[in-house]
Amino acid sequence: MKESVDVTIVGAGVVGLAVAETLAQKNRQVLVLEKNDSFGKETSSRNSEVIHGGIYYPKEFLKSRLCLEGNRILYAWCERCNVPYRRIGKLIVATDEDECAELERIKITAEDNGVENLELLGQSQLKSKEPEVAALAALFSPSTGIIDTHRLMRTLLISAEGKNVIVAYRAEVTAIHFDGSAWDISINSGQYRVRTKILINSAGLYADRIAALAGIDVDTAGYRLKQCKGTYSTASPAPKINHLIYPVPAKNNVGLGIHATLDLSGRVRFGPDSQYLSTSQRFDYSVDEARKPVFYESVRRYLPCISMNSLNPDMSGIRPKLQRPGEPVKDFIIQEEGSQGLAGLVNLIGIESPGLTACLSIAKYIREKSVIAT
Ligand SMILES: Cc1cc2nc3c(=O)[nH]c(=O)nc-3n(C[C@H](O)[C@H](O)[C@H](O)COP(=O)(O)OP(=O)(O)OC[C@H]3O[C@@H](n4cnc5c(N)ncnc54)[C@H](O)[C@@H]3O)c2cc1C
Repeated sequence: MKESVDVTIVGAGVVGLAVAETLAQKNRQVLVLEKNDSFGKETSSRNSEVIHGGIYYPKEFLKSRLCLEGNRILYAWCERCNVPYRRIGKLIVATDEDECAELERIKITAEDNGVENLELLGQSQLKSKEPEVAALAALFSPSTGIIDTHRLMRTLLISAEGKNVIVAYRAEVTAIHFDGSAWDISINSGQYRVRTKILINSAGLYADRIAALAGIDVDTAGYRLKQCKGTYSTASPAPKINHLIYPVPAKNNVGLGIHATLDLSGRVRFGPDSQYLSTSQRFDYSVDEARKPVFYESVRRYLPCISMNSLNPDMSGIRPKLQRPGEPVKDFIIQEEGSQGLAGLVNLIGIESPGLTACLSIAKYIREKSVIAT
């Protein structure tokens, strides 16, 4: 038997759940298909859990706008739905003169993007906030915070289900066919089928595969994803820090640099580092003890109390990147594909950081900009 729904979302990560919650309304049947046995088991549970302030991205990028808006909406959601969070603030620390100059550039870019209340701190002001951090200056971002991502996803799920959204687990999308008016989706190689008017591809690391199944030439469209692993490390004993501590990002860095994060229980983690994966390694989350020296060299520049022996490899996550190593950073792709003759298909490609921060603003953007609005 073939079910028929209005909207089908592929992927129950934080973005797919936020989209489902936001699009749900009376008289609209929304279905979420997730290949795993529960929600948020991939990138959405393998990240730094930081609510970003929108500091680094170029102004014209969706990443910039959606991060800034997402930051505000996400804090409001946390308040309303009792999701644990703390607005602990972030310090970007400069350890030499060049980095001090870079801090000023970062501040100007961020303010131009609309980030408010940034503060440049001198050495003694920094020392009073973070006695264990050794740096010449810092940029303080008070709007950066941390969140319990699992609770966030659970509240999105509960709210969506309360609006009659159906979330199906162990439901892998394996084939997609468009007949010119609606989409036929095959689940688990034909075990189930569903017909849908709107198809939203929020498949994270697999979003290029889903786009290809839906009829997009992903290389021509520029949708081919490159997997970039980020590994974390813990330290025992852990340094005492009160804020998120980030280095000044290196030029052409593929991430934000190995930073020190705190979770809501006060646990300190370092990372993520950045390692592009080859095709054979693509979805390999194993952590490599041999990365210890990379962590040590990065972290000891701003936390000299760290010793190599105190570091222990922790978990890893994988970023779905659009740029190859060394290429300039690329923006999120959020694209309704009507112009390709694929009406009703909305692709979300390259939703790496700040995708967690921006989950609700991405959802709002889709609701306002796409075929859904009509
Ligand atoms: C190391 C790291 C650190 C990060 N830190 C931060 C941070 O501090 N702050 C921040 O804002 N962002 C951060 N991010 C980014 C953030 O984690 C992601 O942007 C966000 O989790 C993406 O959510 P998603 O729902 O798009 O993807 P995912 O969580 O990957 O969800 C996609 C879902 O689609 C499902 N799926 C895939 N294919 C199929 C199929 N064929 N059929 C059915 N289901 C399918 C998958 O199983 C998965 O559950 C970080 C990312 C990484 C890797």
